[in-house]
Amino acid sequence: MNEKLKIAVQKSGRLSEKSLEIFRECGIKIPNSSQKLRTVSSNFPVEILFLRDDDIPQYVEQNVADIGILGENEVWEKNRNVHVVRKLGFGDCRLSLAVPKDENYTGLNYLNHKKIATSYPRILNEFCRKNQLEVEIEEISGSVEIAPSIGLANCIFDIVSSGSTLLTNGLKEVETVAQSEAVLIKSPDLSEEKQEILNRLLFRIQAVMRSRENKYILLNAPNHAVSQIISILPGMKSPTVLPLAQEGWSSIHSVITEERFWEIIDELKALGAQGILIIPIEKMIV
Ligand code: ATP
Ligand code: ZN
Repeated sequence: MNEKLKIAVQKSGRLSEKSLEIFRECGIKIPNSSQKLRTVSSNFPVEILFLRDDDIPQYVEQNVADIGILGENEVWEKNRNVHVVRKLGFGDCRLSLAVPKDENYTGLNYLNHKKIATSYPRILNEFCRKNQLEVEIEEISGSVEIAPSIGLANCIFDIVSSGSTLLTNGLKEVETVAQSEAVLIKSPDLSEEKQEILNRLLFRIQAVMRSRENKYILLNAPNHAVSQIISILPGMKSPTVLPLAQEGWSSIHSVITEERFWEIIDELKALGAQGILIIPIEKMIV
């Protein structure tokens, strides 16, 4: 009894802040402890371990941590016995091949017999094997993008998000090999008690992620347009329609994704909708 679920998160890096933010939004209090390597929550049975992201798959496989948050790219590269439980909607990036910008890239064959610098040799090797490419892989642990300019390699295989690092290093992206984002992984053999804590945590994460994707929409509409507006506004069940004090008008309430809202805003206005409000949702449980 009184077991705690041990969660590995990145100690300091691109995923650290967003990982802790998810727990905070789930109502799980994590003491602010940038110096510490582990800390416990005061109101939920979890212990947080702060680690380098590269080490998280191994720690989770060996049950040093029960679950972990890291980029899916690291999960693929380390290839440990861990289960990906769910995607977390942040840390988006892609793994791409890039070559010096003045090269005449003619397709995958261009890469044959080239020397490629990367921190992801396993993923690159797999890609080359599938595409029957023979390349020389130069494994380095960081600053991969300078490898061509210092003569260490002809091309690189690395993480790209905006592409600006490539540009400033005189490179161009020529192939996207995989799309990655932060994921939650778990050890393949969790005790029943720990799985129970994980289920409670996942329920909260689900509510937080739904609320991030969805908005509450409120609008006023002339009664004759109500049924048409409802037909383009999906609700959780169906939209709520309330009469306004002003004769002939109603207020319509529903839940909508932000993307869908921008798609239909012109249609809503054309149907006579007025006073349209889009409001963030704090938590969403369906
Ligand atoms: P650590 O010290 O923990 O080993 P790191 O230097 O390996 O840190 P970061 O640069 O903090 O790692 O990146 C962590 C993860 O963030 C990456 O594995 C990737 O999943 C994700 N990511 C998102 N965008 C980018 C980007 N532009 N460059 C690098 N990683 C990115
Ligand atoms: Zn790392």
